[in-house]
Amino acid sequence: MTDRRDPATLALHGAGGERRAGSPVSPSITVATSFHADPAGIGFSANDLAGTPPPFYTRWGNPTVAELESRLALLEGGAGAVAFASGMAAISGLFLSVLGAGDHLVLSDVCYAGVAELAQDILPRYGIEVTLVDTGDTAAVAAAIRPGITRLVHAETPANPILRLSDIAALAGVAHAAGALLSVDSTIATPIATRPLALGADFVVHSLTKYICGHGDALGGIVVAARAGDLTEIRNGALIHHGAALSPFAAWAILRGLETLVPRLRLHEENARAVANFLENHPAVGHVLWPGLDSHPQAALARRQMANFSGLLSFTVTGDGRALAARMAADLRVASYAVSLGKTKSLIFYIPTEDILRSSFRLAGRAADNYRAAAGDGVFRLSVGLEGAADLIADLDRVLR
Ligand SMILES: *Cc1c(COP(=O)(O)O)cnc(C)c1O
Repeated sequence: MTDRRDPATLALHGAGGERRAGSPVSPSITVATSFHADPAGIGFSANDLAGTPPPFYTRWGNPTVAELESRLALLEGGAGAVAFASGMAAISGLFLSVLGAGDHLVLSDVCYAGVAELAQDILPRYGIEVTLVDTGDTAAVAAAIRPGITRLVHAETPANPILRLSDIAALAGVAHAAGALLSVDSTIATPIATRPLALGADFVVHSLTKYICGHGDALGGIVVAARAGDLTEIRNGALIHHGAALSPFAAWAILRGLETLVPRLRLHEENARAVANFLENHPAVGHVLWPGLDSHPQAALARRQMANFSGLLSFTVTGDGRALAARMAADLRVASYAVSLGKTKSLIFYIPTEDILRSSFRLAGRAADNYRAAAGDGVFRLSVGLEGAADLIADLDRVLR
């Protein structure tokens, strides 16, 4: 589905609702769990469904949730979308729909910790083999793919927490050449920065909890597909039978946040640039990782693949990171020492390298060394919010001394 309207217009209007006198201008929350049924229509088995069902039962589909699905499909240029209760529910739903016993998954060796743990702890129990590779290295991905056995390559770009990028068009080429599908976790980029489906990906996933909701008050996730047929198993199996349906209240909060995604991302990027420049010149800071910096190791790819560099950056410090984290928790007054990202308010959190290598990534040898080279002893992951940049910088400067 290609809609040439500006993303700012799509985010606000979607496909466009009814415009008769008396119809609402803003989305409403439909809280009903059941809808009057057509006795000649769909039966009671989700297995008989193809495509988005008419309102029937809210775990199958709901008008408020459907409006959110429609807007994300338009923004990503996809054929359709299925929303879930969280980003993790969307990603596990995608994995357990596309992959089965005997299949092989190639996954970013650096990604959201929950995804790394899901892939390494849970998928093997279902007979799914997982290989972790640096998806920023297309040749390494090509070498890891086993033609006919690898069903899915999953890349997160930029990847949490070191903002490593993957070349989506190149990955789509090597995945498709071997008969595999490509999914991209584009949570940090958002559809404003990057449209993975236009670059050849088959699926794009988002934690809606982050920039798309944007206000830190609702959890949600979504899978958008290039082809509608690829969503049948995701809706009928992962959504309806695994059951992690998005609440209409959360869908409404996320729709409300989505309306301002474009102007928020512009300001997130502008503030992130100011903060990144400040940090790069601060004597207590080692190095700064942000795709918009010339010093980013993949700055050329960032410029090619990202129309906005988003608001998430990480930095190392020359002193003791744990001691600084404690000082931040006690003394910051603008940013909050807290997890998550993509919210109106700035959030900062320390991720010690040896801890995340042990608990989540479980990398050894060259992969671990590459992570250490990027992250040092640990990174402060800073989700730059919409506060005045000078206030945020002064707050950081005070605790960094
Ligand atoms: C937060 C996040 C997730 C998980 O999303 P939840 O909504 O917290 O379940 C997945 N991927 C990335 C990149 C994230 O930042």
